[in-house]
Amino acid sequence: MSEIKASGYPNEDENVSKETQATNQQSLEEEIHNLRERLHTLQVRLQEEGGRPGKNSHETQTPAKDWDSVGHGLDKYMVERYSRQIILPSFGVKGQSKVSNGSVLVIGAGGLGSPALLYLSAAGVGKIGIVDRDCVELSNMHRQVIHTERSVGIHKTKSAKQAIMQLNSSIQVEEYTEGFTPENALEIVDSYDVVLDASDNAPTRYLISDACCVAKKPLVSGAAIGTDGQLTVYCHGDDGPCYRCLYPTPPPATSCARCSDAGVLGPAPGIIGTMQSMEVLKILSGIGEVFSKKMLVMDALYSRYMVVKLRPRSETCASCGKTPEITRDTLSSFDYCSFTGQASPSDAATPGLRLVDDKHRITVEDLVQRMNPKHLLVDVRPNHHFDICSIPGSINTPMTSFDASLVKNMFEEGSYEEISVICRRGNQSQRALLELHTIGLDNAVDVIGGMQAWSAHIDDDCPIY
Ligand SMILES: [Zn+2]
Repeated sequence: MSEIKASGYPNEDENVSKETQATNQQSLEEEIHNLRERLHTLQVRLQEEGGRPGKNSHETQTPAKDWDSVGHGLDKYMVERYSRQIILPSFGVKGQSKVSNGSVLVIGAGGLGSPALLYLSAAGVGKIGIVDRDCVELSNMHRQVIHTERSVGIHKTKSAKQAIMQLNSSIQVEEYTEGFTPENALEIVDSYDVVLDASDNAPTRYLISDACCVAKKPLVSGAAIGTDGQLTVYCHGDDGPCYRCLYPTPPPATSCARCSDAGVLGPAPGIIGTMQSMEVLKILSGIGEVFSKKMLVMDALYSRYMVVKLRPRSETCASCGKTPEITRDTLSSFDYCSFTGQASPSDAATPGLRLVDDKHRITVEDLVQRMNPKHLLVDVRPNHHFDICSIPGSINTPMTSFDASLVKNMFEEGSYEEISVICRRGNQSQRALLELHTIGLDNAVDVIGGMQAWSAHIDDDCPIY
């Protein structure tokens, strides 16, 4: 194959050829991405146009039927479609009518939002808003069950809307791809009856709660990480607390784990998200007892499910107290990132921890040059991460039990001349490096970008997790 060259490209200039190949590949990937988005848009439109007659129950007037003596407004198709929930004595046609004319805003189309969106659209909630700024990734698939393999790379709101349209074409779906921000929060929340928090970070949780306090909307809140979960309803009734009532001071940033760092078993958010959808249906239909002033705490690993009582609304709460600091006028200028000490999700996407100077940092390409018997490569990821994939010849000493003097002994006894430290993304390795420098291993260097950079630039067969 080496003799075969495309015309117009000089044989001797391999760099130009490689660059051109990379550019071609990039433009092809962009084209595939654009085509996928276009395909989804067309599929959604086809679904919308091909829906059943008389669709879009939300806020539309249905002419009264002879057989509808109570004026519930449901047509024959709707009664048949939702008959198994309508024949529930507590729910009935009145419950269905309220649900069909009701609306819910789901913030986050991920692990919690996926089951919630599926059940809410299946139940026939008239209008569903979906907020998410992210695109579907392969690592989402094990828990974000509304998305399919074909959705990888496209916006989650688009993917979710398509799934909803396939499930129930009568639903009016609104997409908010810009995410939920102090600037747009109230305008969006004002258009819905209930809000479902399926987000995964502290700044957004405070913002959602504040917006619901100001707009006086019930907030169905859920959280799940690992095999644990929580569920409650905030801002409900006359004395239901808000998120701020319970947590006037944000927890330290270090205690706020995310699924991408801590891991999660799919059914954990699946259970909580499903329970959130049940609370939404109860609120919209007016049946049962809303889960306010109580919190479900789930430990699914040991099958422990506890309900703890919560304090009622706090009179001194900055958001829903007697003299609130957060109001319709002030909310948009509140700085949620500095309040919680956490970056917004968009900032967090670009890791930029810098603990060591440039001369003690090397790229993965530099690391390849160092690979020789006199070089010691220390991998400080947890054991179970090291088990996933590792660089041949590296040794694993997890950061949680990192002993710099042990590494120093190994370096000296093995007569090594160079030492590099690697982790998952290049943050923990810098912390380890500082410890090694402190005990005199001055030539130790850190690998920028860690194993993710290794997989991306050196060994594309090595998984990025
Ligand atoms: Zn409050």
